[in-house]
Order: sequence, then structure tokens, then C-alpha cells
Amino acid sequence: MDFGDTPAEAAFRAEARAFLDAHMPLKEAHRAHVSRAMTPEDVAASKAWQRKKAEHGFAGILWPTAYGGRDGTQMQHIIFAQEEERYAVPTTVFNQGVGMAMPTVMAFGTPEQLARYPRPALFGDEVWCQLFSEPAAGSDLAGLRTRAVRDGDDWVVNGQKIWTSYAHFADFGMLVVRTDPSVAKHAGLTFFIVDMKTPGIEIRPIRQISGASNFSEVFFTDVRLPDRQRLGAVGEGWKVALTMLANERFTVGRAEGPDFDEIFALAKAVRIDGRRAVDDSAVRERLAAWYVRTAGLKYARLRSQTALSRGKAPGPENSIGKLVSASKLQDIATFGIDLAGTAGAITDPEIAAMHGLFQQALLYAPSKRIAGGTDEVLRNIIAERVLGLPADARADKGLAFNQIPTGAR
Ligand SMILES: Cc1cc2nc3c(=O)[nH]c(=O)nc-3n(C[C@H](O)[C@H](O)[C@H](O)COP(=O)(O)OP(=O)(O)OC[C@H]3O[C@@H](n4cnc5c(N)ncnc54)[C@H](O)[C@@H]3O)c2cc1C
Repeated sequence: MDFGDTPAEAAFRAEARAFLDAHMPLKEAHRAHVSRAMTPEDVAASKAWQRKKAEHGFAGILWPTAYGGRDGTQMQHIIFAQEEERYAVPTTVFNQGVGMAMPTVMAFGTPEQLARYPRPALFGDEVWCQLFSEPAAGSDLAGLRTRAVRDGDDWVVNGQKIWTSYAHFADFGMLVVRTDPSVAKHAGLTFFIVDMKTPGIEIRPIRQISGASNFSEVFFTDVRLPDRQRLGAVGEGWKVALTMLANERFTVGRAEGPDFDEIFALAKAVRIDGRRAVDDSAVRERLAAWYVRTAGLKYARLRSQTALSRGKAPGPENSIGKLVSASKLQDIATFGIDLAGTAGAITDPEIAAMHGLFQQALLYAPSKRIAGGTDEVLRNIIAERVLGLPADARADKGLAFNQIPTGAR
């Protein structure tokens, strides 16, 4: 395992820092904003920052130069994300478009699609969303029920998507639908690029526990999509969707929020029965356990980065990072609020301890254990692909979708 940068990586890090120093202030310590509602002003700020990065060659580090990218390495991508994390940059609405959707368009797009979509996304002009999950298809995404039926040169789409992040700000969506229910569930899917202003699309924001509405339900009623908006072949939607999901792994970004340093700082500041909390043996035991987990995550991440730096692909053991860090975040947030006693109920960032970092984290930590693969699904991946344990039972394997015994569809 390498702990340091290679000379080339160090040079890139210096270049990234120089760019960031010139354009953004450093973040204030112990402050996070991730749970608040995205406003149109936040989206405008995110677009402006995306454009600035694109103009300086830091937006599409992994993208080919033909589309305005840098044609850089995975390590450069990681290094820039590590450095950017230290600055007060706006919350991005471009992870899905630039990190996931456009690499998929580049893999499957027609010449017209390639000429039309990637560049405006990279330069912050157009926002994309991911129309995958449905009320009855999340972990089992291939069980989705939104239908598209061919009608002349068009396809007519009916159904519902859910949990679509930033749908209400999006210009385009990446949509996977069922076009043939008479074959096995993975085989009957087709993928489309959707203009979110198409008649028949209704977006209903979902109110979250934090009060924000950063994702929505999206309803499709007789939505007509021209066949030229199809991405990939008819019936190959699963392959396209998997490409998009594989790119999700590289949309680097750690869950912002309280970690060991913050809970340690709080334990030093708070008093229990007249003594510093950090001197209490029960508190020390918890702190020690989080210190160990934090160190484990750090070295697991360095191991993956070493593999990338040497040109190898990271393996399924990457699932461990999200599994451990999401539950650690939730535990630390809960404990931080307990430690603060009655003051733990104060959520106003201007008066709460550490700008309400723990209170905010308590509200968004559960979502980290669901989005991008639930805890249980990640455990299945680790069990099957890392530990080599027997595979999960798959009762519908090989059955045509319309023969799977579930409720009416
Ligand atoms: C903040 C956030 C943003 C999101 N943004 C998007 C987005 O932009 N676009 C989009 O398409 N989706 C999005 N999602 C949806 C997300 O992908 C799904 O929530 C996720 O895949 C889980 O699916 P589900 O909610 O349907 O839960 P289900 O799959 O129904 O799971 C319910 C429970 O059953 C468990 N379970 C399921 N299968 C198994 C199994 N085989 N073995 C053991 N346990 C199992 C799960 O772990 C979970 O506890 C977002 C979700 C969140 C929280």
C-alpha cells in the first residue's frame, strides 16, 4: 500500500490546489449543509461552479478531450475530489449527469446524441436525473414496471418512478423501462433519454424528514418519446443501466458530516456530572471503537487507491467503505446529540453546537444506508463476491417477467 503521492500525482494535486485557492474559500471547520433544501439559487451556484471547473479542465477529468474533458486518470479524479472537499463549494447537481449519465451516453450514444448532450452537461448548462427506481423496484431494479410500447416512430411510456434526485431541476433524465414483459426480467428492458419537459411527465417533490424536497416522484402518462431518444438497442436496457450504475462507483464524494474528529472535539467540550465527557470511561469506549473503524476505512480506501494508482480496477471490497461509513455516521450523529443533552434538540446552525452538524447528520444519515445500495444488498455483495459464500436465493431466475407470481401489473 502506498501512502504518498507519486511525483506525477503530487504535481497534479498542487495544480488542483492552485486552481481551488484562486476560486473558492476554504470550508469552515465543522460545518455542513447537505440536508438543507436545494433552492434555485443553489442550483445556479452549482451551475456556475461546474462551468468554472470545466473551463479550467477540472470538470471532466476522466472524460475524453473531444468532449471538453482532460482524459486523465482515476487517481487524478480522486485527488481533485479530495482537494475540492476542503473548500466551500456549492452542493453539486452534476454527479448524475457528468459522473454517471454522460459516460453512459458516450458508451452507447448515436453520433447525434454524442454531438448534442455531453458538452452542455460538462459546462453546467444542463442538469440530468436518474429515472431508475420505482415503488416496487429498488434493490431489485430489473423488476421495474414502467412500460413503453412502440407506436410508429415513437414509444409511449406509462408508469411511475420514485426517489428521483433533483428531478424538479433536471433538463433531461436517464430512463429505463420495460418493453417486453414476455421475456426474463433483465432481458425485456430498453433505455431512453428523456426531455423532462415532455408533455405527460408530472414531477411531485417528496418532503423529506429534514424538511427538504431534494427528490421526487415522477409520473409518466402516455408520454411519447421518439425512437431517436433510445440509448442502446431495444431489449438491451439492462446493459445500459449497468454501465450507468458502474459509473456511480466513480462519482467520488464522501458523506459530509461528523466523523471521529468532530465527536472527539464535542466530547472534550461537553461535561457530564462536572467532568469532561472525554474522561468518562463509557464515552472513551465508544470513541475508541469509532477511531478503530475510521482507521480501518482510511486504510481500506488507501488500498483501493493504491490499486487504482497502479492501473488496477477496484474490486467489490469497495462496498465495505459505504457499508461501514454510513452506519458510523448515523451512530456518531445519534451519540453527538445525546452528549449535548437537552441542547441536542437545537437545530438552528447559528446557535447549536458545531453549527448543528450532528442534528443535520441525524436526519440524512439513514438515506446514506439506502441510496446507491442498501446495507443488506452491500452485505450480499461482500458475502458473495468477497467472501465467496453461497449466492442469495433468486426465486424468479429464468422466469418470464409476466410469469413472476406477484401482484397485478
Ligand atoms: C437520498 C436518496 C436518493 C436517491 N436518488 C435516486 C435517484 O436519483 N434515482 C433513482 O432511480 N433512485 C434513487 N434512489 C433510490 C435508491 O436507489 C433505492 O432507494 C435503493 O435502491 C433501495 O431500493 P428501495 O428503496 O426500493 O428498497 P427495497 O429494495 O424495497 O428494500 C427494502 C428493504 O429490503 C431489503 N432488501 C432488498 N433486497 C434484499 C435482498 N436481496 N436481501 C436482503 N435484503 C434485501 C433492503 O435492504 C431494504 O432494507 C435514492 C434513494 C435515496 C435514499
